[in-house]
Amino acid sequence: MKKVLCDKASRKHTYIMVLSITMVVFLILVNIASVASSEDIKNSGSNNAFNFNKFDKAISAYDKAIEINLQNSPTLYNHAFFCSPINKTGNISVHILAINDFHGHLEPSNDTVGAEYLATYIKRFKSENPNTIVVSAGDNIGASPLISAHFHDEPTIKALSMMGFDFSAVGNHELDKGLDELMRIQYGGCHPDGCLGNSSFEGAHFQYLAANIVNNSTNDLVFPAYAVTYVHGVPIGFIGIALESTPMTVSKFAVKGLKFLNETETINKYVKELKDNKGVKNIVVLIHNGGYSQDRKSLNNTLLDHNSSKSMHISDVVNNTDRSVAVFITGHTHQAYNALINGSLVTQADAQGKVLTDIDLVISNETHAVIEKKARNIIVSRDVPKDSGVAGLVMRYKSLVAPIADKVIGSIKGNFTAETNEAGESTLGDLIADAQLYYTHNLSYGCADVAFTDPEGIRSDLNLSGSERQSNVTYGQVFSVQPFGNKLVTMTLNVTQIKDLLENQLHYSDNKSSTLQVSKGFGYTWNKSAPVGNRINISGIMINGTSIDPNNPSYHVTMDSFMAEKAISILEADNMINESSLDGMNVTALDDVNVTANYFSHSKAMNPEPGNRIAVVE
Ligand SMILES: [Zn+2]
Repeated sequence: MKKVLCDKASRKHTYIMVLSITMVVFLILVNIASVASSEDIKNSGSNNAFNFNKFDKAISAYDKAIEINLQNSPTLYNHAFFCSPINKTGNISVHILAINDFHGHLEPSNDTVGAEYLATYIKRFKSENPNTIVVSAGDNIGASPLISAHFHDEPTIKALSMMGFDFSAVGNHELDKGLDELMRIQYGGCHPDGCLGNSSFEGAHFQYLAANIVNNSTNDLVFPAYAVTYVHGVPIGFIGIALESTPMTVSKFAVKGLKFLNETETINKYVKELKDNKGVKNIVVLIHNGGYSQDRKSLNNTLLDHNSSKSMHISDVVNNTDRSVAVFITGHTHQAYNALINGSLVTQADAQGKVLTDIDLVISNETHAVIEKKARNIIVSRDVPKDSGVAGLVMRYKSLVAPIADKVIGSIKGNFTAETNEAGESTLGDLIADAQLYYTHNLSYGCADVAFTDPEGIRSDLNLSGSERQSNVTYGQVFSVQPFGNKLVTMTLNVTQIKDLLENQLHYSDNKSSTLQVSKGFGYTWNKSAPVGNRINISGIMINGTSIDPNNPSYHVTMDSFMAEKAISILEADNMINESSLDGMNVTALDDVNVTANYFSHSKAMNPEPGNRIAVVE
């Protein structure tokens, strides 16, 4: 009976609505609190040993440099250095400090260190060698905790600016909210929702560089391709490279009108330009792409795991680019390594500001070329004093967001993590999928039979605190788990389409965390030894607790809007969906994070599920 009602449910929304609603999700989600002006926040650090006057002066000189040079050349951002020490051999010592994938992790937590300690490290290094350039390989923002996301990631940009960052690549998550929003992050201005506090956001004091992102119709760059820094008159070029496959990792609306060019070809193009036209011999590439390290426990892996396609890719990029690139500062894979590939240093600093890469270059005063280079990854620890300026900024936003973030919404009796078992199932994936099925099971939200959760959208764990047997869960914690603000979508799929989606997730060899997480009542077994694309037997798929009916043309499957887009791309590529199939799509008014939060509020203390929905055989 219920099924009949559900089949008659109105499914008026179209695919376009998925896109447009996704676009406004975050805007609707967020309540804007009043924030003190950035001036207040800057001044709160006045007791710091760090000289803020000097810092401010440096920043305004910077701003001028950005303005002038952006006007002169869209591809170039010049940066004159203020100091230029020379070592006793007459050669020039340059330090490059690098992070990647900070993702707005301003506050310390169980597994992150906090911006106030990272700031101390960076400032100490800078005071030791004024020829220090601070860079990021991208994903500074996006997929960030509530303290940053609630304020459109402005607090993170302010913190990185206070730390003295110079340049950053554009990560895929920089584009989560589209290019217009990233332009605002770079150049300042109020969010379309309104200004936070009395003053307009002033924008990043560091420059985003993106040599391979161009306007689709004009082929114009959207950010400068590179920047040139002069140390003792010697130019060093920094080229920014975005992930070529960014369109696969963010919502389609976010990259509408943009083209992402080949990474290797773009690097070679601008290396040539820097060498031939600007006399730059020393080049550093900031690339938001990276490999996997061979030993994931080690901080300074010198070898990449060559069983991983991501490692193969970044090695190919390095091997096929001009030898003038001294260093590739990589990101995106959240790994720590420090490798030498074909004569170039290739580094990555884990993620979330936990590790800092210190790259030491010695440049010959005669030839003006790098004659020595080495790198080391350093753990950012909490046994140094907090940087009071950044600590003040974090405290300010922490107190503003506290009424929402600290609200207890439920409790857990075990650890819920994104870590998967051999079959690819995780306790947190189970919980999120169950919550999504629970809320989309009824008529008004799509009559779902099953929910599929994208494991790549699960960004944090929910663990018991200390030795507690039962711990409270706050809204802020749940937000860290699901920070994207996606709507839930219910799609109508037949059995072959469901099988195709499940088979597709098993293509990945790098990490099994790409396995879709499934709700209670759904289950299947996959065969590891079977060929890719043919690892699941349809008759073994269980739905609503019984074997799937191969003749039922319309199972209702819930996914978040980002996963739904991905699913459509997969099915389109496999010729399993057409325009009319999209009529069966119901975009609900439910936000993924609020669905999980509400599921907590309506449940007793949660115990992790045993992880027996997906099984694997060899
Ligand atoms: Zn990334």
